[in-house]
Amino acid sequence: MIQDEGYIKFNPSWNKSPISIDASLLIQLNEIRAQLQAKNWLGVLPNGIGFGNISIREKESNQFIITGSATGKYSQLKEEHFSLVNHVTIEENKLECTGQIMASSESMSHAAVYIHNKKIKAIIHIHDNNLWKKYLNKLPSSSINAAYGTPQMALSIAEKIKQLKTNSGVLIMGGHSDGIIAFGNNLDNAILLLQKL
Ligand SMILES: [Zn+2]
Repeated sequence: MIQDEGYIKFNPSWNKSPISIDASLLIQLNEIRAQLQAKNWLGVLPNGIGFGNISIREKESNQFIITGSATGKYSQLKEEHFSLVNHVTIEENKLECTGQIMASSESMSHAAVYIHNKKIKAIIHIHDNNLWKKYLNKLPSSSINAAYGTPQMALSIAEKIKQLKTNSGVLIMGGHSDGIIAFGNNLDNAILLLQKL
């Protein structure tokens, strides 16, 4: 399998300017990240590529705040390590974001979830080889033929979210080895689903 994880495949339109994040939300995001890092669900691969990311919906919009590209190596994140995804066009693989850092390379997968269920407010994407193998096609899974970072993967995730009609759950990313997504009404809800696997 080609190791292309961590590279941005979407066409970005990046407004490189600061965004602000509530202090309380920033604390919560760091607490969740610490729990993910403790499980090695988020971090850095031996080849230096970061993995794992977190996002949270911006109020009632389809915009969301997501950890920036290549932030897996940091233990504590600040505002400057997050990006606000303003708009995406999945079919064209286009993404607009604002922040001092580019949005995570996996932002399209997050967008696909938020667009197709307005009640989903938070998403955690982790890597875990054992859980991925155990639950592939046993839990809801996106197509194994839809590769990481492609519109096909985002569309396959969108299709699952539409079918599931649930605000909280776990989705196995079929075409992205080790990739798992948990989504919920809030971050605590999403991480709890992962811890129960
Ligand atoms: Zn991933």
